[in-house]
Amino acid sequence: MPIYSHSQLSMYEDCPLKYKLRYREGIKRAAEGVEGFLGTMVHDTLKKCYDDLRFTKANALSDLLAYYNGIWQEKWHDSVVILKEDLVEEHYRALGEKLIETYYKRFAPFDSDITIGTEMSLNFSLDDQNRYRMTGYIDRLSRTQGDVHEIHDYKTSAYLPSQEDADNDRQLGLYNIGIQKRWPAIKNIRLVWHYLAFDTELVSHRTSEAISNLVRDTKRLIDEIEAARDFPPRESPLCDWCEYPDLCPRRKHLFKVEALPVNEYLDEPGVVLVNKYVSLKNEEARIRDEVEKVREAILDYARREEVEVIRGSDCKARVKVDEKLKFPRKNDAERRELDDIIKGAGKWGEVSELDTTLLTRFVENSLWSRDLIDQVMKYGRIEESTSIHISKLKDREN
Ligand code: SF4
Repeated sequence: MPIYSHSQLSMYEDCPLKYKLRYREGIKRAAEGVEGFLGTMVHDTLKKCYDDLRFTKANALSDLLAYYNGIWQEKWHDSVVILKEDLVEEHYRALGEKLIETYYKRFAPFDSDITIGTEMSLNFSLDDQNRYRMTGYIDRLSRTQGDVHEIHDYKTSAYLPSQEDADNDRQLGLYNIGIQKRWPAIKNIRLVWHYLAFDTELVSHRTSEAISNLVRDTKRLIDEIEAARDFPPRESPLCDWCEYPDLCPRRKHLFKVEALPVNEYLDEPGVVLVNKYVSLKNEEARIRDEVEKVREAILDYARREEVEVIRGSDCKARVKVDEKLKFPRKNDAERRELDDIIKGAGKWGEVSELDTTLLTRFVENSLWSRDLIDQVMKYGRIEESTSIHISKLKDREN
């Protein structure tokens, strides 16, 4: 079984197709979001801060900012993607400086704990048979007063999660397991997230019950990934940062036409077909409304003139008004009483039949026993079903 990381598992949960492209097919792309680039630069700078301290070198804030700006310049590349249209590289570089300054002012001279490691690589198993192997990097591990070990994670995002999110966070929970596997004597671990943009920390710790649940859930997820044969695309706001739009059936065409000049774009066969389809559907809706209005007018005319046949130029319309017996529909309030009366009279079988839509739901969601589903499935068959759903483009897609 391959070695898994938290980010690998999250990618599968966010979008199975993206996971497949990255980890099963090993397709790597140079493109990265500016947010990720900024995060890496800030992480590297804070790593230097603590690494140098281990050699008794206390950097001034200006030293760290000089280092940060140096690596920013050296590592910046053309494939860094900035999505926000009103922002440029300089805005993000300056934001990184601000985050480092905030952290520095809060923790300098950085002597409240002892750093054990920065960017510490962890490899461990969730089971004794070495089947469920995990890997990860801890931003910083430290030991503080009272022999408490702290797993630190730096966050540069502009989103502050809730305490509940922190208490359920898988990544640091897994690192907690990894540290205790490496050093079983460590009993007291605190998980600390530094939300630099908010100058605040979230702190959590894991009970042994929470650890057992985490191990169970992570193993289940790994089993699901290992057994997966289908890796469907799952659209979400994260698609805007996805590096595989050209390989994704949900984004491929948008990606292709985005690059075309307007005149070529309007002639592209897919664009032409969708434009034609939308225009015909609009016309169809308009005609349907019009047909309904004329139909009502014909009925009115027939009632008013007391006629059953109305002559046109080349054809005639015959108007028929019948009275039909109706019973409450499925969701009407009285329907259940009616059902009960018929069932009570032992006549249900004479007036009811199999609801195949409901049957499909029971089979697809495995709501019956395997044995019964297997028997029913002898009569089931897979048929292709098609649909076209039209929606407005989002601002960014426009
Ligand atoms: S664009 Fe979205 S749906 Fe497509 S692979 Fe990427 S994340 Fe998945």
